[in-house]
Amino acid sequence: MNKQTVRDVSLKGKKVIIRVDFNVPLEGDKITDDIRIRAAIPTIKYVVDNGAAKVILMSHLGRPKGVGFEKEFSLAPAAKRLAELLGYPVKLMSDCVGADVKSGVASAAEKVALLENLRFHKEEEKNDPAFAKELASLADIYVNDAFGTAHRAHASTAGIAAYLPAVSGFLIEKELQYLGLAVNNPERPLVVILGGAKVSDKIMLIENLLKKADTIIIGGGMAYTFLKAQGINIGNSKLEKDKIDLARTLLEKAKAAGVRVELTEDFVIVPNFDSNDGKISDVIPDGFESLDIGPKTRAKFKKVLDGAKTVVWNGPLGVFERDAFANGTREIAFHLASLKDKGVKTIIGGGDSAAAVLKFGLDNKMTHISTGGGASLEYLEGKELPGITALNDKKSTGGCGCSCSCN
Ligand code: AMP
Repeated sequence: MNKQTVRDVSLKGKKVIIRVDFNVPLEGDKITDDIRIRAAIPTIKYVVDNGAAKVILMSHLGRPKGVGFEKEFSLAPAAKRLAELLGYPVKLMSDCVGADVKSGVASAAEKVALLENLRFHKEEEKNDPAFAKELASLADIYVNDAFGTAHRAHASTAGIAAYLPAVSGFLIEKELQYLGLAVNNPERPLVVILGGAKVSDKIMLIENLLKKADTIIIGGGMAYTFLKAQGINIGNSKLEKDKIDLARTLLEKAKAAGVRVELTEDFVIVPNFDSNDGKISDVIPDGFESLDIGPKTRAKFKKVLDGAKTVVWNGPLGVFERDAFANGTREIAFHLASLKDKGVKTIIGGGDSAAAVLKFGLDNKMTHISTGGGASLEYLEGKELPGITALNDKKSTGGCGCSCSCN
């Protein structure tokens, strides 16, 4: 079911509370990366420009203890940066709930207010109904635009929706559009690239994708458990011994489902993990481990990708944080960027694959880069995200062809 967005509700004269993700990296009170704040601007501006009487923003930041204010987790730096980006003042409240906050928001000269860190109250993560109701009492409409926390049932992401009309902002709308397209109605062939450290983190993802994908490419640390399952020597490469049987079963299931699986077939090997002196090799001798896919594998993966109409990528193909082992991930990332120019939909799951794409300066060269690591993984696994489920469904289309309720 499609979810309502800010475009589906009348905002004029309304107090609108928006769950944003201002969980930004900080060094002291300096924000080292403001991408999350910038990403929230289109929704905030839309709500302001469409006549909202008040815009109340709320977010978590870091992991405070949940027993009150802690300066190092204050949203003050975010409020300052937000005001610079918006070009108008933002009122930072001293807390997120309570009578003072309520009267302070109402009497503030500023149209936009930012509540203090939600996680100063343990009730937030407990999805406490009384806490959710207090947040809701500040506004007439609830907007969720924090995709990165949509897989958590917290008071500000799920509970609050029981008390207010609940719609998504543009960030969540875009995530649902592209991730939804990938898993529910992809232009085929759909090729999925899986990498990252561990098979155990991706079992549910693989199970779900076996029902959806035409081809699954497996690289990164998780590939070696699959190779071991096929009797291939992997030296000291990353191995989850207790997942070898599972890897074998997944390969059998893929075969039965007619899903092609492509695995790493040459390697960049080192004598120990800390060595930067990688050697390209067709085999992994005892005493060595592989930290990247080799050139033959890169060429093979690129050829498979050339046949795709939709590509979903989750997890780096090597230890991309270190230049010596970033080549496989880099080559595939640049290849995806070139495929996007040819009309292929390239969708990057959040977390490490998104970090890799950013590291290579390809942030504007993909169809979609998800803003949520855990949330995009759970969505691709086919799980319901509580922060999305809680939003109002779009009204069904009536005979008039619009999405009103005239039927
Ligand atoms: P994940 O969080 O599961 O997406 O895993 C990402 C991590 O996997 C990154 O930090 C990579 O450095 C690591 N990784 C990728 N390939 C390998 C490999 N061949 N050996 C060890 N770690 C790897």
